[in-house]
Amino acid sequence: PVLPEMMTYRTIIQRDHVPFLWQIQFAKPEEKQEFSRFPTKTGRRSLSRSISQSSTDSYSSAASYTDSSDDETSPREKGQVNSKGNSDFCVKNIKQAEFGRREIDIAEQDMSALMSLRKRAQSEKPLAGAKVVGCTHITAQTAVLVETLVALGAQCRWTACNIYSTQNEVAAALAELGVAVFAWKGESEDDFWWCIDRCVNMEGWQPNMILDDGGDLTHWIYKKYPSVFKKARGIVEESVTGVHRLYQLSKAGKLCVPAMNVNDSVTKQKFDNLYCCRESILDGLKRTTDIMFGGKQVVVCGYGEVGKGCCTALKALGAVVYVTEIDPICALQACMDGFRVMKLNEVIRQVDMVITCTGNKNVVTREQLDNMKNGCIVCNMGHSNTEIDVASLRTPELTWERVRSQVDHIIWPDGKRIVLLAEGRLLNLSCSTVPSFVLSITATTQALALIELYNAPEGRYKQDVYLLPKKMDEYVASLHLLNFDAHLTELTDEQAKYMGLNKNGPFKPNYYRY
Ligand code: NAD
Repeated sequence: PVLPEMMTYRTIIQRDHVPFLWQIQFAKPEEKQEFSRFPTKTGRRSLSRSISQSSTDSYSSAASYTDSSDDETSPREKGQVNSKGNSDFCVKNIKQAEFGRREIDIAEQDMSALMSLRKRAQSEKPLAGAKVVGCTHITAQTAVLVETLVALGAQCRWTACNIYSTQNEVAAALAELGVAVFAWKGESEDDFWWCIDRCVNMEGWQPNMILDDGGDLTHWIYKKYPSVFKKARGIVEESVTGVHRLYQLSKAGKLCVPAMNVNDSVTKQKFDNLYCCRESILDGLKRTTDIMFGGKQVVVCGYGEVGKGCCTALKALGAVVYVTEIDPICALQACMDGFRVMKLNEVIRQVDMVITCTGNKNVVTREQLDNMKNGCIVCNMGHSNTEIDVASLRTPELTWERVRSQVDHIIWPDGKRIVLLAEGRLLNLSCSTVPSFVLSITATTQALALIELYNAPEGRYKQDVYLLPKKMDEYVASLHLLNFDAHLTELTDEQAKYMGLNKNGPFKPNYYRY
């Protein structure tokens, strides 16, 4: 069999009392075809339309194909209603909903595992009664997650975790569907917090689940609406940065509800952070700068999962890659992978590109920006815009020239210029699209984390930060294996005994690093 009977979800539940109210089996091979191999009629149609649309859209950020609109009116000043007369949303232009729907259709084609989870669990409605407030990048892939949560019974209110990454047409499609979404591409800082507030602050509606990416939503609720935590069942956090904040809260004894650290689920960290960045770093750089990579000297700051993905992609196209690291283990990995590990100051004058991937702050300082050579491209792949000291570039002696969407030239008095992408915000989600398949893995993990926290009996989770059980990670991976027609080997009884393993998994101890 493609997937052994032992791996059915039913057996996982029975054996380990995983507290889901519903039971699902792995997709049969023929079900897989429904979502991945043979696009549906809508899928085929939408694919061709989307290609023709996007091909006419040369330099605008690909994260939103419809950004060519000249409409400068702030969405906050527009009174918009969807076709059902609902006005509980704030997006750039609700009229883009149809186009956004096609984008979502396309994403669904490569998110078959999440779609199959939706299909299998929707009759059981494991999220019935859940009121989920979400703060994530608003892309077609996120929309597939949000619509899955709705199909499983949740009510959702959604906002963006990044001011540049929203696909306006996708936000419009969600609003048209009835999801209260507050987000548009190019929000100001003030808009950003206003949108978060509109999501949480709704008369007669109080969230009981939080899905966050970066911790800003959680922070806002702590600051403004702490009473939400009296009824909330938990927080699901996806990013390195947000998880770090949760552990700090927990350490200080200030975490009021259980939290799931999705970032450190193997199926998130080892796939989204690594493969997503490996596939999208070049895309973001090409779309903004048309740069040729062969022979270029690039320094990548941080050799964690994101840094590893970026370095692999750059090396494959012939770039000469340097790595900076603070951690000797990651530095040694970089050396063994064939990269020169240097201090940033040692290479800053010679490199053509600087890419930050640390999740840290002030990794690139004003002094280093001063020392870069003419034409150096500077960008960030980490979650926050704190890695490059962009604020230090806003001084009178430097001239900022916006040359394309998301591309600024910063010009020094002697004529030297550097090319700053997305104002130091994460490049791939601001300036390119990201692969649906890998985001399906993250989204499936997020959906399972929400279901787990929402349905957990009292006392199972305390006010602490948890990882999803490993067998759930394995389950998420198994669902995605169907796309590849991969044939898993089953342990024999003798082998299972020899290895001290249950034939049904988990197959690795928690400390195994993959
Ligand atoms: P990680 O912890 O695995 O890697 C970060 C690395 O940076 C670590 O090895 C650390 O030692 C190193 N580092 C820290 N400070 C440094 C400094 N001053 N100089 C050099 N190296 C330093 O984290 P990760 O999974 O690689 O994620 C990194 C960032 O990228 C996070 O902010 C995360 O939220 C974000 N992220 C972005 C995407 C994306 O699509 N762009 C996807 C996933 C994660």
